[in-house]
Amino acid sequence: MSATRALIFDCDGVLADTERDGHLVAFNQAFAQLGLPFRWSAEEYAGLLKIGGGKERLAAYLAAHPEFDLGAEGQVLDVIAAVHKLKSQLYVDLVEGGALPARPGVRRLITEALDAGWQVAVASTSASRSVQAVLSSVIGANNTKRVSGVFAGDIVSAKKPAPDIYLLALRELGRSTDEAVVVEDSEAGAAAAARAGLRHIVTLSHFTTNDPFPHASAVVSDLGDYDAPARLVSGQDIRNSQGVVDLSGIEALLPQPNEALAAR
Ligand SMILES: [Mg+2]
Repeated sequence: MSATRALIFDCDGVLADTERDGHLVAFNQAFAQLGLPFRWSAEEYAGLLKIGGGKERLAAYLAAHPEFDLGAEGQVLDVIAAVHKLKSQLYVDLVEGGALPARPGVRRLITEALDAGWQVAVASTSASRSVQAVLSSVIGANNTKRVSGVFAGDIVSAKKPAPDIYLLALRELGRSTDEAVVVEDSEAGAAAAARAGLRHIVTLSHFTTNDPFPHASAVVSDLGDYDAPARLVSGQDIRNSQGVVDLSGIEALLPQPNEALAAR
């Protein structure tokens, strides 16, 4: 039965608190290195995070700030492309330098799922190289080799909250919506999972504590570790008796095919 199960993780905010500790830092480094006249505060970045995708985020910021006159539309697009390229490199440097700690319980739960024969995948609309770097930094090179798929970047045209990346992941993994659970941390990500028809849990991250999650099966502070249990915020209590989210808590969210077979 376990071979027909998939656990699909968002990257940013779920595997690590990458927005606060990584992307924001890298954006501001890129602005400085390219001589651009603005920097983003954590408060400004919190608002921009409602927009999925780094290029889209920067485009929206520039559209809202005409005082930073970067020239005609084509030149603006060149600036956005240059920032995105440099920022992506700076971010990977930062991640590969070990500056991003894993969020609580992520490595534990992924190892448990892989050992139980579940498919583990990552679905993110961030740049593919960044996602790969975060994943291997968080779960290690050996576990990364056992992951069934890293679906990231521009492989779908519509970013979260569109369901496309999750629909692609399901198709590639060969799973139905009744066989997979998603872990998300943001409103846009949870909406993408919901629109794909997927059950999802939410681990709140630094910038998403006030987001609404109307369709989440459960919202928790994090996945929890045995020395630092998770807090249930809302929904079904998927924690075990020691206060951590384990595979049986995830499995309990899915319909049980064996029950239907046993009834025949
Ligand atoms: Mg996220």
